[in-house]
Amino acid sequence: MNSINKNDIKVFRTENSKLDQTDFENLAFGQVFSDHMLTCDFKDGIWQKPIIEPYGPISLMPSAKIFHYGQSIFEGMKAYKDKDGKVFLFRPMENVKRLNKSAKRLAIPELPEDFFMEGLKALLEVEKDWIPEKEGSSLYIRPFVFATGEGFHASPANQYKFIIALAPSGAYFAGKVKVLIEEKYSRSANGGVGYAKAGGNYAGQFYPTQLAKDKGYQQVIWTDDTSHEYIEEAGAMNVFVRIKDTLLTSPTSDRILDGVTRKSVLKIAEDEGIKTEVRKVKVSEIVEAAKNGDLKEMFGAGTAAVISPISGFGFRDEDFELPELENSYAMRIKKRIVDIQTNKAEDPFGWRV
Ligand code: PMP
Repeated sequence: MNSINKNDIKVFRTENSKLDQTDFENLAFGQVFSDHMLTCDFKDGIWQKPIIEPYGPISLMPSAKIFHYGQSIFEGMKAYKDKDGKVFLFRPMENVKRLNKSAKRLAIPELPEDFFMEGLKALLEVEKDWIPEKEGSSLYIRPFVFATGEGFHASPANQYKFIIALAPSGAYFAGKVKVLIEEKYSRSANGGVGYAKAGGNYAGQFYPTQLAKDKGYQQVIWTDDTSHEYIEEAGAMNVFVRIKDTLLTSPTSDRILDGVTRKSVLKIAEDEGIKTEVRKVKVSEIVEAAKNGDLKEMFGAGTAAVISPISGFGFRDEDFELPELENSYAMRIKKRIVDIQTNKAEDPFGWRV
């Protein structure tokens, strides 16, 4: 595979920066986009040199295969600034490797790793003023690849585009999260694409999630597609359950995204002396624990919120509340991860880049 250095990447600068008009004190999540993006085309059988250009519309033919066959994958990661203005990424190679795992499954040509990493570093140098400094804020990074090649024939495209776009974002606060354990609809299936970060995986969740929202829940917890007896993950987060003092999470599989935050939570929990078990978790076990008081916490783990505590869950027309804990595992682990991400604490695992 061809390789590249960040200094080889040409930069075409915008003449209309939006920096001055951006209110960094009141950022929502993923709603404002920075001035520049990295773009890179796959054609003639190879990934061409990436460039940095002004963030703006892209032009595609109506016959581009992305519109018809959904060949599209993405990643989500963040850049943080510490108090001295130094910029950090968190375990970025995990995202590079996962993008290529997704690419392979969707028959998209894999991207040379340094096109991603060197490209991202070059882009962050150009866009460093877009990285918020406010506590809890960060620059959300969205790398994605989609089919630009044309044809009304259901086969992989011969041309693709890789883009990295950036969205300065405020702290992700979901408020109280009540989840619905879903038994009818499935997010993914054995042998399917659930482990890939494919656009269609998300489109397929919108309708059942909307039904759950109409019933007063904010999120769905998916169960396995064959028996619906075991919990799997949430919309864009892996799920953890604390029964008594043990932290449980499902093993990754064909059907579950191998989350970077999930891995980090497990590692930190271990480091904190918290007992963890990676195993299939039965819905009936959670319901029983909720009834007898052994269910202490449930939380989602993902890049956007890091950790999102769950306040209660619904299952078969019954609602269960979770207790509010003073010293929750969720908050203890979240603080450890955020302190590493933002260079406020030692990084014994070498996660900061
Ligand atoms: N599951 C799904 C389906 C997701 O989209 C995400 C977000 N990428 C996660 C889990 C959490 O993964 P990560 O910790 O790498 O953000």
